[in-house]
Amino acid sequence: MQKILVSACLLGERVRYDGGDCRQSGLLKQWQDEGRLIPICPEVAGGLPVPRPPAEIVTGDSDAVLCGCGVVQRQSGEDVTDAFVDGAELALAQCMRHHIKLAVLKEGSPSCGVSYVNDGTFSGVKIKGEGITARLLKRHGIRVFSEFEVDKLKLR
Ligand code: SF4
Repeated sequence: MQKILVSACLLGERVRYDGGDCRQSGLLKQWQDEGRLIPICPEVAGGLPVPRPPAEIVTGDSDAVLCGCGVVQRQSGEDVTDAFVDGAELALAQCMRHHIKLAVLKEGSPSCGVSYVNDGTFSGVKIKGEGITARLLKRHGIRVFSEFEVDKLKLR
């Protein structure tokens, strides 16, 4: 059975920065019950606590962060780039381990965002872009879908 990597918060794990989750029902729940899903929270895997202050990509984009010239920060200015990159690499390692070619990630997150992220000003403004984990998985040929695209994934 082909496995699918999924953002842990989408399965109800309380790993969000605010201590909450983003539980989804429907197909994800069905696939979870069938044992198809491998959950991971890249930020927690990278060593960040729950709850934690929110962070945004403030310099460059996800490619720049992965190349060592972009920065992820908290609003306080604390640099958390290493934890985000470590988490992305651990998510990729899970994909390699389970021969995963598909992922469902939480839209908008600086780690998991598939098509948009916050703009780095901590003002709630969204811009086109990808989270760091989403970008790293795509670079390695893994098809990444948001929670709003699960139906597209089903068609595959
Ligand atoms: Fe969910 Fe991803 Fe944020 Fe973890 S890093 S809480 S899995 S969106």
